[in-house]
Amino acid sequence: MAAYYVCSMAGVSGQYWARTSSESDYMEATIDGRKGMSINWEGSAITRPRLVVKPERISELVDIVKNEKKYPAPVRAVGFQHSITRCAVADGGTIIDMRNFNRILEFGQGHVRVQAGVRIYDLVKALSSRGLQLCACPEFGDISAGSVACTSNRYISSRGILGQISSTVVAMKLVTPQGTKLDVTAKQPDMLNIMRSSFGLLGIVYEVTFAVRDKIGFVVERRQMDLDELSLAMAGLNIDGTGVRLTLYPFYNKAQLEIRHSVKLESKTRQWVPSLRAWGWNCCMPFVAQLLKRLVPGSGLRGKQLDILLFQAQKRFARLFHERTAEMSAVCLPRCRLPKWGRCTYTTWAFPADDFPLLIEKYVAFCRLYKRAHGFRCDLPTQAVFVPKDPASLLSYAADGNVFTLDVFSTGGRGWDDFLIDLNLFCSANGGVPLLNQTKLLSQRQAVRGLGRRLMTFKRLRRNVDRNNRLSSTFYQPLVG
Ligand SMILES: Cc1cc2nc3c(=O)[nH]c(=O)nc-3n(C[C@H](O)[C@H](O)[C@H](O)COP(=O)(O)OP(=O)(O)OC[C@H]3O[C@@H](n4cnc5c(N)ncnc54)[C@H](O)[C@@H]3O)c2cc1C
Repeated sequence: MAAYYVCSMAGVSGQYWARTSSESDYMEATIDGRKGMSINWEGSAITRPRLVVKPERISELVDIVKNEKKYPAPVRAVGFQHSITRCAVADGGTIIDMRNFNRILEFGQGHVRVQAGVRIYDLVKALSSRGLQLCACPEFGDISAGSVACTSNRYISSRGILGQISSTVVAMKLVTPQGTKLDVTAKQPDMLNIMRSSFGLLGIVYEVTFAVRDKIGFVVERRQMDLDELSLAMAGLNIDGTGVRLTLYPFYNKAQLEIRHSVKLESKTRQWVPSLRAWGWNCCMPFVAQLLKRLVPGSGLRGKQLDILLFQAQKRFARLFHERTAEMSAVCLPRCRLPKWGRCTYTTWAFPADDFPLLIEKYVAFCRLYKRAHGFRCDLPTQAVFVPKDPASLLSYAADGNVFTLDVFSTGGRGWDDFLIDLNLFCSANGGVPLLNQTKLLSQRQAVRGLGRRLMTFKRLRRNVDRNNRLSSTFYQPLVG
């Protein structure tokens, strides 16, 4: 039996968001006077669905999608609501909380079959105890199998490890917008290619099969340098099968180059160092930055202090902990229990890898110019991750060749949204490709410019498959028609 509850209509009752005691995960929130339910990690996305349902069986899922009268459109599935955009909103519609679909169904030969609400962290640990791992290396595990199977994501790759989890999906089961069940397997490669970047618009995923492999380890080399030395350092890299992550400090003229190699697992591994780094970046750094923001409100001074603090911390960390071989599962964090005010935000674009050193120069100039003109600067360093060519999904940002993602981090606040508008103009004009669920404030024009014909193909497909816009939301509609 689906556990569901109805929200009172906006404005009619003082309490807009009706909560049951068992559903404390959903937070009431108010942003700019708008009340609703908080549906993303940083609390910037508010939605006012008519219903939130938490089905337990596939038959219930089918009924929810089919019964238009009882369950109003748009119908959006959600996992752990850890997106940073508004991609999970369902204003006036129905939110399907998938977390009751939480069983690992089968450990097979070279694959694992799971329900869509399984937490990736739990899956990573279960595989690890069997000497196995995913063919990708997620760093934040409080996310659902269903969401990563059909959306764009980016993780550090290395030999035998892909940059997008969706590309490791070998089969999927979903409920179509008409309420019928559909199995997509490796025998239908074109269909699988479409579904891996379907963003919940072509169906609600309830089961996913991921390719898995024997565990391997990795070693990391870290080098700190001035920004103007980075091009030369990158030119000397042989990135074939090598993982690369950059940390850029546009206002401090510094950078860290992190190079990762896949290696055979040794009997002695050191797990806590990579875990500490992942925790430091994802949880500690945003918290410290937000704390500093409260103590030192002036953005220029605070930005400078944070740059020095974070760069020196990275440098010391690299010196103190010469990396030994680590297991990939060590970097997968279970969750990050931070108060909403202690979290950071980011946006992501992808750029061709060949020209990336030049793009960095332009990006640094853009940031400095913007600061001079508008007084705003991102107070956290920018990251970039190398993702090798990956045409496994129709809307893959790396379909045409190797890319670097540009992940622009900030504590947000006043000036951030305006900055994003100009950043999007800059990225789009410089050949950037967006990640539909991870690029903030994206316009339709920028999406079309970045993804080109592939987006047009997806648009046509979506219209044919979902003529009544059962699954489309106010977030996706402007982007994919
Ligand atoms: C601290 C932190 C660190 C992060 N680091 C990274 C990182 O390194 N790399 C990266 O790529 N991302 C990263 N992210 C982003 C996050 O991993 C992704 O956005 C992920 O998809 C969120 O998973 P979720 O289960 O919370 O999805 P949700 O936010 O609940 O949903 C995401 C989208 O998927 C759709 N969806 C969910 N479930 C289903 C389903 N069963 N069927 C169809 N559609 C569905 C939703 O409607 C929505 O559009 C990070 C986020 C946080 C908070």
